[in-house]
Parts: sequence; C-alpha cells; structure tokens
Amino acid sequence: MELIQNYISGGYATPRSKDRLNLYDPATGEVYGELVDSNSADIQDAVSSSKDAYASWSGLSFSERADYIMAIADEIDAQSDTFSELESRDTGKPLSLARSLDIPRSIYNFKFFAEHVKDFKFKLELQNDVSTNYIQRMPLGVVCCISPWNLPLYLFTWKIAPALVSGNTVVAKPSEITPSTAHLLGDVCTKVGLPPGVLNIVHGKGSTAGDMLVKNMDIKAISFTGGTSTGKKIFKNASGSFKRLSLEMGGKNPAIIFEDCNYELMLETVVRSSFSNQGQICLCSSRILVESSIYEKFKSDFCSKVSELIVGDPSKLDTEFGAISSEEHFHKIKNYMDLANKEGATVLTGGTVEKLSGRCAKGWYFRPTVLEGLSHSSKLNKEEIFGPIVTLQSFTSESEAIGMANDTDYGLSATIWTEDIDKGKRISDGVDSGVIWINTWLLRDLRTPFGGMKNSGLGREGGDDALRFFTEQKNICIPK
Ligand code: NAD
Repeated sequence: MELIQNYISGGYATPRSKDRLNLYDPATGEVYGELVDSNSADIQDAVSSSKDAYASWSGLSFSERADYIMAIADEIDAQSDTFSELESRDTGKPLSLARSLDIPRSIYNFKFFAEHVKDFKFKLELQNDVSTNYIQRMPLGVVCCISPWNLPLYLFTWKIAPALVSGNTVVAKPSEITPSTAHLLGDVCTKVGLPPGVLNIVHGKGSTAGDMLVKNMDIKAISFTGGTSTGKKIFKNASGSFKRLSLEMGGKNPAIIFEDCNYELMLETVVRSSFSNQGQICLCSSRILVESSIYEKFKSDFCSKVSELIVGDPSKLDTEFGAISSEEHFHKIKNYMDLANKEGATVLTGGTVEKLSGRCAKGWYFRPTVLEGLSHSSKLNKEEIFGPIVTLQSFTSESEAIGMANDTDYGLSATIWTEDIDKGKRISDGVDSGVIWINTWLLRDLRTPFGGMKNSGLGREGGDDALRFFTEQKNICIPK
C-alpha cells in the first residue's frame, strides 16, 4: 500500500506521527494508500527547516530564484502524464481534464511567476527638496499555503510560485483528500536541486495539521483556498499572531443570460461552466438566470445537452463527467438533492446517483442535475453545493437580474451573456463579484486580480497582488 509522507529538508521524512489517513480512489471507492496525519513534531520540523533555509534563499537574486522556479515547471512538464494520472485518480476528474487544464495550468503558474517577477517593482525611489525615500519590498520569511481538493496541483502551485519567487520559504499543505501530485512535486524539487527547506510539504487533517500551521508563531502569512467556514476559523485562529491572510473561499455564481446573446456559444459554454469537474470548481455557474423571453427555449436546449454528457470512468478518454471527489462530498450532494425535493423543486434532468459497472461499481457518481421552481430564498439558491446541481430562474429586466445575482452572501464570480457590451458592462457594475466574465468563462490572464467579495474572499491573488501579498514594505529616508 502506498504511503504518502511529508517532504521536509529536501527529502521524504520518516513521520513522527503514528496516525494515518486512508486515501481513496473516487472512481472505484477503493482505498489505494495511506497518508501521514502530521502531529506537532512533524509540523515543527517543517517550519524549522523553512526557517533555516530562509537566509540563503532570500539572499538570492530574483533571476536566480526564477531559474529554480522555471526548472520546476520544466520538470513537471516532463512528468506531465504521471501528474495527470495521479490528479485524475485522486479527484475522480476525467483524465482528459487533468491533462488539458490542471497540469498545464500548474506548469504555467510557475512559468508565469518566474517571468512576472522580473517586471514587478520591488524598489521605488521618491525625491523631494529635503529627502530621498527608498521604498523596498522584502519577503516575509516563512509563509504557509493551504489548498483544497478540487484543483489540487493547480491551486497549490498558484500560491507556492509567487511565495517562493519573491524570496519566502514555504510550508505547504495540500488537501488530505488529494495529496498525490503535491507529493510528486517533492520529487521534482529534489530533481531540480531546489535547496533543502525552501519548500516543505506537509500532510494531514485540516483541523489538526492545518490548524497547527495557522497558529504557528514562526509563520508570517497564510494563503488559503477552501470553504468559507474553514476561512472563518482560520481568520479567528490566526488573529493571535497578526499573520497576513489571503482567503479564497466559496461561491454561488450566477450566469446571467440575455436574449440578445450569441446563443450557441452561450449554450455550449454554460454547460461547461456549470458541470466542468463535476461542478466542483469555485467559479462554476450554479444559479442560471435567464431572460424570460428565451427561458423555455434555453431550458429545453440546455437540459438536452446536459443529459448527453458522458458520465463514466475518469480514466477513459471519452468521459466528460467523472466521479465526485470524496464519499463525504457525495453524501453532501445527495442531501442537497433530498432538500431540493422537499423544497418543491422540479427536476428537469439528473437528480439521481449514477450506477456504473465493472471497476466503477462502487465509485461515487451523481448525474448532472438541473432544477427549476425554487424560490430565491431557497437553500438550494443560497448555499454553496459545490457539485453538479444547478438551478434555473427567469428575469424580466436588467435591475431584476442584478438583484437576483446579488441575492447571496457570496461574491466570487459571475458570467454575463449579451452581444450588447454596454449592457454587459452596466450589469458588471451592478453585480457584486470579484471576477466577471462577459461572453466567456474561465478565460484567465494571470496578471489580473483574482478573488471574491462578501463571504467569498479576503484579498486578491494573481499578478502583482500575489507578489505584494508575499512581501512587506520598508521605507528608508535619507535627508539631502
Ligand atoms: P476545506 O475548507 O475543507 O479545506 C481546504 C484546505 O484547508 C484543506 O487543505 C484542509 O485540510 C484545510 N483545512 C481545513 N480545516 C482547517 C483549519 N481549521 N485550519 C487550517 N486548515 C484547514 O475546503 P475543501 O472542501 O477542500 O474545498 C472546497 C471549497 O473550496 C469550496 O467551498 C470551494 O468553493 C472552495 N474553493 C475556492 C476557490 C477560490 O479560489 N475562491 C477555489 C477552489 C475551491
């Protein structure tokens, strides 16, 4: 049985903790391995190692650090087939998605920040009649990156790359549900000769290992992506040490569809934005708001396309919709379906567990589901399900669409579909979301700020925002 261990000081560490967590393949529901559930001694080893490595790593030039980061990207690329297979095995996502989205983006995260750091102004000089001020950005020290299970390596590297390139050393914790690609990243770091301790990767439960990292006094910042309730706990638990926090959390994202949209493009994209990765992307559309004049046509065309999605074994290349990533999450989705039935929803397509045969007979599969007939205030329209259940609602005016879009505690992303770009911009102005797409979805320029409003986030990731987050300013004043 495979055992996934912590990566500390440039190698896999013999665990101090005796506790282990089972690792499951969601496609089959079978245990494939065990994960070290780190205790305080394991966590302290990792933090001490990162502290020891800080002076020499932060003393390198930006281009020296960027060379290491680029080498990591190239080595992931060289092993991309293995990375994709592990990502699909851990998450239940189609192998084709891991190959086309997760692993290429993970590689690009490193490449992007290795380049972007060269354009970022780490030093600024201000002159006046009496003084010169030098404003310098310095790395923070040891920082911590905590990531979720839905896009494991993609989100892990999205944090690690800017943290490292700006001169910090990092203790990183992937989700305990999907640790394999983070584990393999350790091998990559050793292979490219990343100095020991610059990146330490620790494993274990969030409530213990994660919590110890959040409360550790030597860690200067936490960059977290995950659920809003976890973000709230981290916010509270980090307050004792005045750590810097970046919190990327849940969403309940509207797709707002006007009758004057490019219909075919919209239809194909909204199927994708609703059900990619089994609806388990924080940016997925979960509330579909349709102008009343095209509501019936959209409903019929959308449900017909959704019902044609090929649900199946994630390892098969024609599979479009794989397994739900954990048994716990599978039950959460089933519970929301029960609630939908109690709240009087009409099931337009899906709504049931999908039973596969052969090696997938015990896997966790739920059909892509479209509901209508629920009120704005229904839990299905308010709470984040983070799975393959979307609701349809109709609107008759721009102001009604904006009101419905904002009728949630979340504010991560929104998509707007209209060929009238002025109207699209008007709607964008009114919608309280950090990331808005007009006539597209998931099109990303990594220089742009990424993050949510309201209960979806605190701070922004990406581009300059990430480099600012992982650095601290110092002003040096010299009289003339
Ligand atoms: P989660 O909050 O359960 O776990 C995320 C990470 O936090 C895991 O590594 C977990 O071990 C750790 N953790 C849990 N409790 C902790 C604690 N008390 N202290 C420190 N760390 C702790 O989230 P999840 O179920 O893995 O992921 C799904 C959620 O992530 C959804 O809500 C989704 O919307 C959100 N998400 C947000 C974004 C974004 O960019 N805004 C991206 C992806 C996922």
